Amino acid sequence: MAKSNQPNWDVVIAGGGPAGFFAAIRCAELNPKLRVLIIEKASQTLGKVLISGGGRCNVTHACFDPAQLITYYPRGGMALRGAFTRFQPADTVKWFEEHGTRLKTEADNRMFPVTDSSETIANCLRGAAENAGVQVHIGVSLLKVEKSPKGGFNLQVREDAEVFSIQTKKLLIATGSDSKTREIVKSLGHTVEEAVPSLFTFNVKDKRIDGLAGVAVENVTLKMDSLTQSGPMLITHWGLSGPAVLRLSAWGARILADKKYRSTLTVNWLGDYKLDSALEVLQRNKDWQENARKKIASQPAFSQIPVRLWKQLTQFIGDKNWGDISKVEMRKLAEELTAGEYKIEGKGQFKEEFVTCGGVRLNEVDFKTMQSRMVEDLFFAGEVLDIDGITGGFNFQSSWTTGWLAGNAMAAS
Ligand SMILES: Cc1cc2nc3c(=O)[nH]c(=O)nc-3n(C[C@H](O)[C@H](O)[C@H](O)COP(=O)(O)OP(=O)(O)OC[C@H]3O[C@@H](n4cnc5c(N)ncnc54)[C@H](O)[C@@H]3O)c2cc1C
Repeated sequence: MAKSNQPNWDVVIAGGGPAGFFAAIRCAELNPKLRVLIIEKASQTLGKVLISGGGRCNVTHACFDPAQLITYYPRGGMALRGAFTRFQPADTVKWFEEHGTRLKTEADNRMFPVTDSSETIANCLRGAAENAGVQVHIGVSLLKVEKSPKGGFNLQVREDAEVFSIQTKKLLIATGSDSKTREIVKSLGHTVEEAVPSLFTFNVKDKRIDGLAGVAVENVTLKMDSLTQSGPMLITHWGLSGPAVLRLSAWGARILADKKYRSTLTVNWLGDYKLDSALEVLQRNKDWQENARKKIASQPAFSQIPVRLWKQLTQFIGDKNWGDISKVEMRKLAEELTAGEYKIEGKGQFKEEFVTCGGVRLNEVDFKTMQSRMVEDLFFAGEVLDIDGITGGFNFQSSWTTGWLAGNAMAAS
């Protein structure tokens, strides 16, 4: 690798993930004279791209308005506002198309390669890097960074068991959620917000949902502390998942970490129904003559609640007919449906996408260039920053955007 033949570089990028690749390609394409090196500690680059989106890579999201786009980022939205006016999902689509890879939009606006294979994206990035003359060295870890008295940086790196130095004029740190590199970043004077998981499922053990794994409800409203999220929810073997839960986990990532993933979740199984309107529907159901002799348990009053779930939610009433339900039971049922309380007792992993919140404090970075406000010629891109999005392609988009901006800036001068 670099140790024998080339110890001096114009630009070194630590981390061969999507942010590092995007920055390297942009930089080398804009300024082909620059010697650009990516060092990647793993035995292959773009590891997360390959496993992303269930092997399909959800590259970005078909949301082309920066003002709306930032609302999908529990952390980092404000900082990304200007950045998205410079490089946003429409630019991502165009970039991949110009580099030979077409994307498609699914019904929920998530965008994937037309091949439905994450390898297409990894191969596209690797090919573009090679065409632009970027050197990629795998199995090389960044260990230490020192500002050189002559300008630029001395980097201590390790390849196999050997530790050696390389020099670079500019350094981009794009090492994702790697905890060791966060220590390096702190040694350079930056503040790093503590890393905690975002995007996870809730472990809930409760007889009302026991045995219902696979049952989905189209539109629930969830509340936890001051947070509210609505959308589809899925009951799993361990508890609750689905878009509404994942969004709540992202917005509540820090709160839940502080509470050690134990909290009370209020579920409105009827989406936006209020208690009184639910009561009215229940009353109508009771008053309806044809229903009088029908079992409550087998006759849901709301079409959005699957029968199996309804049966368990109404179990406390016993084997009664609609005609025999009391006022007290009806009120309790309306409460159960619109504000059922469930105990979150831990978190589970969402296998399609896994993200960490925390990272380099955003006001210490200039989001026009992604350059550190504290150390000249030091740049950041991707998940190493305190940015994270909800599921749907937003996390890659912030890596493309910040990588592209860093690449632009590093190519200049
Ligand atoms: C299972 C899974 C599925 C996902 N699916 C999606 C999806 O479909 N859509 C989406 O938008 N997001 C998805 N994400 C999130 C997305 O992968 C990340 O947001 C994104 O990869 C961050 O890019 P990055 O380049 O900043 O960091 P990374 O992809 O983490 O890349 C950083 C690289 O730096 C290397 N590195 C770390 N430390 C050092 C060091 N000291 N020296 C040298 N190299 C180092 C790492 O080995 C790694 O290769 C998924 C994540 C996971 C885990």
